[in-house]
Amino acid sequence: MEAALALTGNASSVHAEGRAVRRLIEEAREQVARLMGAETKNVTFTSGATEATMLALTPALEIAGRKEPRDRLFVSAIEHPSVRSGGRFAAGSVDELPVTSDGILDLPALEEAIRRAARPMVSVMLANNETGVIQPISQIAEIVHAAAGVLHVDAVQGPGRIDCDIAQLGADLVSVSSHKLGGPQGAGALVRRGDIHVAEPLIRGGGQERGQRAGTENAAAISGFGAATAVANLTAAGRMTALRDRLEVGITTATPQAVIFGARAPRLPNTTAFAVPGIKAETAIIAFDLNGIAVSSGSACSSGKVQASHVLTAMGADPALVRGGMRVSLGWSTTDADVDHFLATWNVLAGSLLKERSGIAA
Ligand code: PLP
Repeated sequence: MEAALALTGNASSVHAEGRAVRRLIEEAREQVARLMGAETKNVTFTSGATEATMLALTPALEIAGRKEPRDRLFVSAIEHPSVRSGGRFAAGSVDELPVTSDGILDLPALEEAIRRAARPMVSVMLANNETGVIQPISQIAEIVHAAAGVLHVDAVQGPGRIDCDIAQLGADLVSVSSHKLGGPQGAGALVRRGDIHVAEPLIRGGGQERGQRAGTENAAAISGFGAATAVANLTAAGRMTALRDRLEVGITTATPQAVIFGARAPRLPNTTAFAVPGIKAETAIIAFDLNGIAVSSGSACSSGKVQASHVLTAMGADPALVRGGMRVSLGWSTTDADVDHFLATWNVLAGSLLKERSGIAA
């Protein structure tokens, strides 16, 4: 990133200064392509996953050089708001698909729903940002392709935690974000498999990014994104799973009435979402913060406003539990001592919050 910031050229210029910036961008493109098992020509850099998803979710798609417009978009009920917005589909042509109580897409409901569309597009996330529940994407891809559909996957939570090879997933279009794998904020990519193209770019102007995204590239952020992919490997995943499991055992030992959302489903190694009847998420989060522990309620992307989590609600969780939903994320730098500190804090905190509540009730 420092190298990119020190360069003054524009990557579209033919002079040496421009070519130096181009080299950094193309190196990053190779790194992101490698991470996703894609060809470099199928990686379009954007300002983040939200923009990549806006670019992807459009009725105007081209497949193998032919216009193949999509007539309906189907999204799961637990998607990130960027996908739930429906992208560039008209409001009336977007349908939401249910999930099971484990937070997994209801596959018979998907099959049934897309049968009603002539050319469906489906968007399902690889792993949920609140619960960590992983979707059976390759199975979903088979169902979608059997119905002549196109599958977009928001894979933001995957890289560095689980395998994200686009061919193995069977996805056609995939959104990824730099800052979820340790890179800078403000960079992301839309990755394509095969020859699917967006016929109407979201940002029009110059011919950058093979005409898929106009505007001078954010070379420093893109370089940082590439660098992050180079260090994001799955070797920390096993260690993170062990720490996460210890965290959950500690929580349910201190508060046996705790509910871990999606506990029976395959999950990311680093995420846990839980609630304890009678403990308000806002109160607990403030107390955690005072102890130097950053915990989120609902989705961090929308925190600041206290909103019932649409993810836990879609999983059919009791509304009182949904209000108490907290999310803890571990990272490759999380240590045993961090987990000990969390659990020691929780032991004191949960006891006093529950006592406070029973005092009020009495
Ligand atoms: N999708 C998921 C699952 C996310 O968790 C996020 C951000 O937290 C996004 C999309 C949006 O990504 P970006 O911030 O790069 O636009």
